[in-house]
Amino acid sequence: SAHIEKENTMSEVTLKNVCKVYPNGFQAVKDFNLEIQDKEFIIFVGPSGCGKSTTLRMVAGLEEISSGDLMIDGKRMNDVEPKDRDIAMVFQNYALYPHMTVYDNMAFGLKLRKVPKDEIDKKVREAAKILDLEALLERKPAALSGGQRQRVAMGRAIVRNPKVFLMDEPLSNLDAKLRVQMRIEIAKLHARLGATIIYVTHDQTEAMTLGTRIVVMSAGVVQQTDTPENLYNHPANLFVATFIGSPQMNIMDVKLEDKDGKLVAKTVVGDHELTIPENKQAQLKSYAGKQVKMGIRPEDIYDANYAEGVNQNDVIKASIRVYELLGAEVFLYFDFGGVQMTARVNPNTSIRQGQEATFALDMEKAHFFDLETEKTIC
Ligand code: ATP
Repeated sequence: SAHIEKENTMSEVTLKNVCKVYPNGFQAVKDFNLEIQDKEFIIFVGPSGCGKSTTLRMVAGLEEISSGDLMIDGKRMNDVEPKDRDIAMVFQNYALYPHMTVYDNMAFGLKLRKVPKDEIDKKVREAAKILDLEALLERKPAALSGGQRQRVAMGRAIVRNPKVFLMDEPLSNLDAKLRVQMRIEIAKLHARLGATIIYVTHDQTEAMTLGTRIVVMSAGVVQQTDTPENLYNHPANLFVATFIGSPQMNIMDVKLEDKDGKLVAKTVVGDHELTIPENKQAQLKSYAGKQVKMGIRPEDIYDANYAEGVNQNDVIKASIRVYELLGAEVFLYFDFGGVQMTARVNPNTSIRQGQEATFALDMEKAHFFDLETEKTIC
């Protein structure tokens, strides 16, 4: 298969105490620290306005860095012109030239750089092969589908063989089906190019499926930088716990009480007593008598008819407000502990809307958060 020779061997990006204060005084990014290794696929994810695009634009050189250092391969880049940073950016609106063919759109940047014609031709054809655009090279953007335009935008970045690819929500203009297709294409592309990619999205599915590591941001502050697995299984705080995962983690207030030398978790609303597993007793000891937040993911709540060997303390009764069948799984919504909870169960469940149901909470999988700091206790 086609591949583009990587002339640049290393592509490491480091952000050290990077801050952005906009001219109006708004602090969009606060003390951002990240060391990106060569060939990593890094995702910036977080709700609208959290500072993802601002951070990416600072790496691109499209936005001035207020303080801190940006290093690419050990060289400080803060004051280097965007065109001299050896990066290529793919935007959500593709920004293709409508009057140019696919070929010329991909060749344009190299022509500007006065790259010899035969070399341009070789690079464009290689990129077209990688992106399956060979049959479309003479078409104009208006005669392409959204996904094909997206591939051309990628192609334009690929031909430049940059040290680092920056992508700002590149799939946000595509319909749901195409998004999934292109997501897989981008994953393949990353594997094939062996390139360092920084990718911005507010879509946590995209983040979880594409990223080798994910930076979760909120209000200009990095909340956690970790692998998808660790973000999901070991969220650093309540924000990450509820941001990653869909449907989101169920969160309720519980009070930790001593009962016969063991801590139990009592829901603040309803006084339901839940078991705290052995391996969490020690970490929660200093919280005895205190209120904490408890989290449990929808898939860790079972239809009790199918759950064997669960602690009877952790079986609860609830009436089902809503039943949602999604084909391979069922979401059940019910009230418990003062909050609306979601259980994600097997579609062979006989539970339906309006019924009284019994659920088993898998307390081995529960998460506990400090009420004030919202940091994970265990
Ligand atoms: P989205 O997902 O909506 O694109 P984002 O996380 O990419 O959001 P940014 O575009 O980085 O967010 O913006 C971060 C914050 O900085 C926002 O609150 C935004 O309103 C603010 N901001 C962006 N550009 C400017 C500017 N030129 N002047 C002042 N504030 C700005």
